[in-house]
Amino acid sequence: MPENQIKNNQYEYKAEMKQLLHLIVHSLYTHPEVFLRELISNSSDALNKIRFRRLTDSNILEPDSELKINIEVDEKENTFSITDTGIGMTKDDLISRIGTIASSGTLEFLKSIKEENKSLDANLIGQFGVGFYSVFMVTDEINIETTYADINSKTLLWKSLDEDKFSIDEIEQKPRGTRIYFKLKDEFKEYAAALKIKNVLKKYSNFVDFPVYVNGEKVNIVSALWHRKKDEVKEEELNDFYTFISNDSNPPLGHLLLNIEGILNFKALIYIPGTAAPTLFQDALDKSLQLYSNRIFIQDNCKELLPDYLKFVKGIVDTDELPLNVSREVTQSSPVISKIKNVLVSKILGQLEDWAENDKSKYDKFYNNFGSLLKTGINSDFTHKDKLIELLRFETSLKSSGEKVSLKEYVQRMAENQKEIYYIMGDHRNFIEMNPNLEYFRKNEIEVIYLTDPVDVFTIPYIFEYDKKPLKSIEKADIDINKNDDLNSSTENQNNNILEQFKKVLSDKVEDVIESKRLVDSPVTLVVGKQGFDPQVEKMMQYIDKNFTHSKRILEVNVSHSIIKNLTGLLIEDKNIELINNSILQLFEGALLLEGKLSSPNEFVKRMNEFIDLSTKS
Ligand code: ADP
Repeated sequence: MPENQIKNNQYEYKAEMKQLLHLIVHSLYTHPEVFLRELISNSSDALNKIRFRRLTDSNILEPDSELKINIEVDEKENTFSITDTGIGMTKDDLISRIGTIASSGTLEFLKSIKEENKSLDANLIGQFGVGFYSVFMVTDEINIETTYADINSKTLLWKSLDEDKFSIDEIEQKPRGTRIYFKLKDEFKEYAAALKIKNVLKKYSNFVDFPVYVNGEKVNIVSALWHRKKDEVKEEELNDFYTFISNDSNPPLGHLLLNIEGILNFKALIYIPGTAAPTLFQDALDKSLQLYSNRIFIQDNCKELLPDYLKFVKGIVDTDELPLNVSREVTQSSPVISKIKNVLVSKILGQLEDWAENDKSKYDKFYNNFGSLLKTGINSDFTHKDKLIELLRFETSLKSSGEKVSLKEYVQRMAENQKEIYYIMGDHRNFIEMNPNLEYFRKNEIEVIYLTDPVDVFTIPYIFEYDKKPLKSIEKADIDINKNDDLNSSTENQNNNILEQFKKVLSDKVEDVIESKRLVDSPVTLVVGKQGFDPQVEKMMQYIDKNFTHSKRILEVNVSHSIIKNLTGLLIEDKNIELINNSILQLFEGALLLEGKLSSPNEFVKRMNEFIDLSTKS
């Protein structure tokens, strides 16, 4: 007995679903007509499934029945009904598919939107894969009659009882497929008029590959958009088709209509969305590319057609090079599919390159939405790595916040004697700009790339070099900064003494103490040894491996800073060694604090209070 069964034929929704239903039932809506699109699209999916199964299996109910969708409305009774001769649902389907939220976080997201606006955009409901429930916008009670395709399947009636429960009963046998019917709420009675339904359907029904009837009248012309010539397809149709397959009501940023002929044959209609779905980084819900074989739908979300880093792309691919009865297993290992994939990736990256060069604001929009995902291709797709690197954009120390540059632009601006491309990682631009390691670069107007995207930690270390110039973290000790050799030997000796004193005091805390060439305004800074990781990479390692301990840092000391000069003076006079040592500890812990790595502030604050006490004594 399923855990949510409460009586013989009654079941309770899971807690999250109850809340979602409550939210849907009690909200005001923009675009309530979306319920119709959701119902049509579910019926169309169910018809696609039976058509596919029928190709190889005649052992099903009514193997020869017409595949179609029938909508019946009645203005007098105020009722709506949609019937398809699709695959139908089993009892398990009814319990598990209808009545569960596929993606965690859906509810929170919808709630937060609801709080911001008084009304809920019905389009969002579909985007989260709970589209069926959008029907609850226009009715209080839904009935689903369904007969699954297997021989001997009984007809079942699913009925929503209230916001908490539903029932499932066996009823008198009906033909294969599904009928969903309900009475409309008074304020939505316009959807009981055939004319209204036809009007709403106009947009989408031509994309449904099966005849759609409204009160007996056929309302669509079945035509595959991607089989038409480029100049015969209107922009509006393309956008409508996008909405139909993606559930995204925002217009796409762009599309590609491909007709590849030659060694490889396929047609494709590919869209790059204008906004990122809130679930972009989750796996559960992406509906990426649909696979068709000679106009017949084969598979939804065919993951093998695109690498993960392009999974935001929507659309369809139609090829006649696959057998119609191709299974999931076959697509997974099919050489045809992997060749198509290769062409698709090149074409999509080519389109992005084109925007990057010729339509910067479009590319910016794209990059803000999908840049983080795109970058993950750098360490997973060796074939297209170089192209992906060209598509990267970064904020830098020479540009204002929000403005982004490519590596190519960076290199073009580099001074002749600069041999490396410098970067610094950090959580946020403001935080990065407080890092003392930047001082030298800022003073000398050397551009430093700011890596603030958490994904950078995983991707940038895979770049190594660009245009033969190595990428280098400015937090590394072996950075190639021109020496300032104007010191005479006596000051050098004095400096060595103070550095030795630092080493003595910090011997178990740092790997080494060296004179800094990069500091301008700060007395000390911590850097990473040649073999060590960037602080951000360490953070990631700690996240992955709780036992990871970070390598000791190297402390760089700015010998021309007044504090260091004072300490050097005290040391020469051999005076007040306790004050010198305490100052050294204080400087070191201050640097740790800036990195967010000071584990206990007690000693730090205690020493600071002593210093204040000293300097305020009259
Ligand atoms: P989605 O369509 O995004 O999966 P829905 O909430 O719209 O989410 O539908 C949930 C599931 O219910 C579908 O995935 C499908 O398995 C089932 N379903 C809905 N309508 C039908 C139908 N007319 N015929 C067969 N199955 C259906």
